[in-house]
Amino acid sequence: MNETLEAVVREHGTPAFVYVYDEVRARLAALREAFGERFEFGYAAKSNPHHGLLQRLREDVQGLDISSGGEWQRALDAGWDAARLGFTGPAKREGELEAAVAGGIGRIVLESIEEARLVHRLAGEQGRGQKVLVRIGPRKVPRGFGIQLAGKASQFGIDEEVLDEALDVILGLEHLELEGFHVFLGTQCLQPEPIAESYAIAAELFRDVCERFDLTPSRLVFGSGLGVPYHEGTEPVDLNEVARLALPGLDALRAQPRFQDSRWFLEMGRYLVGSAGTYLTRVLRIKESRGTRIAICDGGMNHHLAASGQLGSVIRRNFKMRVLGSRSGGAPVPHDVVGPLCTSIDLLGRKVELPPLEAGDVIAIENSGAYGPTASPVGFISHPHPNEFLV
Ligand SMILES: *Cc1c(COP(=O)(O)O)cnc(C)c1O
Repeated sequence: MNETLEAVVREHGTPAFVYVYDEVRARLAALREAFGERFEFGYAAKSNPHHGLLQRLREDVQGLDISSGGEWQRALDAGWDAARLGFTGPAKREGELEAAVAGGIGRIVLESIEEARLVHRLAGEQGRGQKVLVRIGPRKVPRGFGIQLAGKASQFGIDEEVLDEALDVILGLEHLELEGFHVFLGTQCLQPEPIAESYAIAAELFRDVCERFDLTPSRLVFGSGLGVPYHEGTEPVDLNEVARLALPGLDALRAQPRFQDSRWFLEMGRYLVGSAGTYLTRVLRIKESRGTRIAICDGGMNHHLAASGQLGSVIRRNFKMRVLGSRSGGAPVPHDVVGPLCTSIDLLGRKVELPPLEAGDVIAIENSGAYGPTASPVGFISHPHPNEFLV
């Protein structure tokens, strides 16, 4: 791994993101080992829409979740069959939906009644039926999710409290074919209990609504919730423990006749690609300022907003990082690691214990494979776009 990173730095310089595909495969293998054949897997393109990653994932996951016309195009460019794509998002525009319906998209994940009516009209105009899932916004979200998308006022999905009225309308729209339901109530959780509880919440919602409306769903999405141990002192999710806690309830749902033939999905981004990526940034200057040693680097928040703590985290904590390459070292001392931007929030790490850094050193920030360049303000101050490499 380090040799690969060093080779990239030697041949292409910094700043750069390096994604190691074997790590993605290892995550998929762990999921299959924990859950057996119960779940199929969907990849959320928004976490990292790198062309090569999308191409390779085509072979290794069953579904791809897109949330814009741009991601639709990227998916097709990477060779994805439209029938395997799902389109999620609270603000899909008419033109985007029209192109997706015309292009034979597998399913549209409906987030409102208005959207259902719009898709119904577009499908009717094109003389076709459109498969849809209804996204439910659960009332309850377990504690422990770093990012919460339900359980409060939210733009995502149809609130559980008004689901029945919405279904009364949606089931009457003859150009829509309801395949099933979708729950994605939160993400970035590292503890097995809340993750398992979130699958139980989804299972209960699916069971109840299918009973009330006498539906036999063909597809259900349970979210995933699975987080990445970005920060010092955090450990990967114990998937076997998630499975131990969640499977009895899931298997009980599966045993009910109306659920026996449905396909169940976990949909995720960061869990698959986050730990597969490393961000490489080079120290340009060292400044000693009022007792603090500051390493000023050639890339920062402009490429890696998440490491700066500005992407949805409540408390800023340092990503795991290290110095690349062998060096004489010396005992670690605290450094503030900052990027090149003329703003004080361009901070990649505060008081990071590293061997005394010098100009020219390269810092490797781990767990950087998801929500990198496309989730960062790469245009801010017009620095170069980082290179990205898939190994
Ligand atoms: C963002 C998103 C995902 C992926 O989230 P991760 O935290 O990267 O796993 C999956 N599904 C939906 C609907 C999303 O919005």
